[in-house]
Amino acid sequence: MKRRKIYFSNDDKEICGVIGCNKIPKRSIPRKRVEKVGILNLRGSSRKVQLCSDCYRIFKKETKKDRAMESLGR
Ligand SMILES: [Zn+2]
Repeated sequence: MKRRKIYFSNDDKEICGVIGCNKIPKRSIPRKRVEKVGILNLRGSSRKVQLCSDCYRIFKKETKKDRAMESLGR
């Protein structure tokens, strides 16, 4: 009987790209954009980062803050 191989590698697994978070990703964000925000520690080195809904919310909140500050400066 044949069995499917199951891999437990963190590299391409469908989990959130934030270190310490193992949730199911909801969004794929370009790594640069997430790194710019600077509050999430990312694993791996792929160009796109998978974020779960929680981490995405944190990311979005921070980007909003940046935008708000930008608009205040004008
Ligand atoms: Zn997450």
